[in-house]
Amino acid sequence: MKFDYDLFVIGGGSGGVRAARMAAAEGAKVGLAEESRMGGTCVIRGCVPKKLMVFASSYREGFAEARAYGWDAQEGDFHWDRFSGHLNKELDRLEQVYRNLLDGSGVEIIDSRAVVEDAHTVKFANGVTKTAKHILVATGGRPVRPDMPNAHLGIVSDDIFHLPELPKSILIVGGGYIACEFACILNGLGVAVTQFYRGAQILRGFDDEARGLVAEMMRSSGIDLHVGTNIVDLATADSAHAASSTGTGADVGMGAPVEPDKALHAKVTRGTPGKPVWVKATNGREDVFDQVLFATGREPNTHGMGLEKIGVEIGRRGEIVVDAYSQTGVPSIYAIGDVTNRLQLTPVAIREGMAFVETVFKGNPTAPDHDLVPSAIFTQPEMGTIGLTEEAARDQEEIEVYCTSFRPMQQAFAGKSDRVLMKLVVSKATRKILGCHIVAPQAGEMIQLAGIAIKMGATKEDFDRTVAVHPTMSEELVTMRTPTRTA
Ligand code: NDP
Repeated sequence: MKFDYDLFVIGGGSGGVRAARMAAAEGAKVGLAEESRMGGTCVIRGCVPKKLMVFASSYREGFAEARAYGWDAQEGDFHWDRFSGHLNKELDRLEQVYRNLLDGSGVEIIDSRAVVEDAHTVKFANGVTKTAKHILVATGGRPVRPDMPNAHLGIVSDDIFHLPELPKSILIVGGGYIACEFACILNGLGVAVTQFYRGAQILRGFDDEARGLVAEMMRSSGIDLHVGTNIVDLATADSAHAASSTGTGADVGMGAPVEPDKALHAKVTRGTPGKPVWVKATNGREDVFDQVLFATGREPNTHGMGLEKIGVEIGRRGEIVVDAYSQTGVPSIYAIGDVTNRLQLTPVAIREGMAFVETVFKGNPTAPDHDLVPSAIFTQPEMGTIGLTEEAARDQEEIEVYCTSFRPMQQAFAGKSDRVLMKLVVSKATRKILGCHIVAPQAGEMIQLAGIAIKMGATKEDFDRTVAVHPTMSEELVTMRTPTRTA
């Protein structure tokens, strides 16, 4: 059978674009459809703009530090409009880079939503259909709000980059990557940040000691973080109450005792987003915030894609179920990236795309490797992590833990009480490093490098015989000689 394309990719994010380009480089005729902006979550509404906001927010601390180092630096105001104008231009540039890369590789771009019609056919929004020998679904995911009345009054991470102005106060709901990163960013930009996390400690799934330190540092930087707390109700606050709201705990803030009969309910109306929002928490406290941000997870973009009706299995969280080679139960249809809900990380989606091309277009069946993937959470300070947490490792085998926490030189000189943490989890039997967890400025950069050694199977003794780079924070990773504890 003659097809219009050898490969049709649905979704122009990091994974889809890489797979399309690599397949085209192998001589395949490739089409790619994107319904929104080229570049996907990472480039347009995720990693890239978020990291630029991390940079923007980190300057505030710099003024005080610079003064401690003898500079005459005065703290100025942050101008959101100036920053966001520059940010938008940068995103336009990057989107164009992605388009040029696809064009240059000979991939045909279709600026439209595409859905799957049958095992070899895709259908565009204008009703046109095209056939392809292989279809790759790389449609990513999207943020979800909790299932509660008035949830539309809260914004999600996609909206942050388009705010006309920064709120004075914000409530962030959630304790994952996005919640914690934006809590630090917005706090750094001068927004009064309150964060509710329903569990006992933020960043569930990460090493306990590491996330404990991140939480402590977030609180000491001014974030009003409440664990074991969730939102139970929200509504638009009336303007009279909004005018008195600071969200800092000044009136009925989360840090202040609340009179039970304060009857804030009387002052709220059900209304539209963009207005200050009244919130009630599980502990009964009530407050008003300029914005509420739901950072309560993401769901795969499979809705309305036509996948179930042609026999592609969709999992409990809406994800496309694939085998180790990213192939669905329909042999001509593959899926990669966040839509498969394996590891929701850009570099992983790219690897999955490359493995797909190896398998399908290079005759070299390759399963993407999801083991020992380093990652970073861009909180302030950052957390860099690879491998097992102490908790998971000790369930698996006998371990030694090497851990140190100290005040880093640069901040200590400036009189700050910031602490960093360097931690290695070591197998007693094989001496291999099972996990490495770093909480420090630039921990993302550090874990990338430590990750190479750990991926290669480095032992504690390999770390020990590596000479320290002095004076650095990360030298502690090669100078810890005595286990902090064994388990
Ligand atoms: P996460 O799954 O990491 O966090 C979601 C958070 O919301 C959790 O704390 C969860 O609580 C909480 N939550 C879920 N439902 C509710 C609810 N109904 N009410 C209250 N709280 C709720 O999702 P994110 O959106 O933060 O991030 C999605 C993925 O994106 C991450 O897993 C990560 O892979 C990726 N990402 C990576 C980044 C990086 O590499 N730096 C940055 C940003 C995102 P609980 O823990 O109890 O389930």
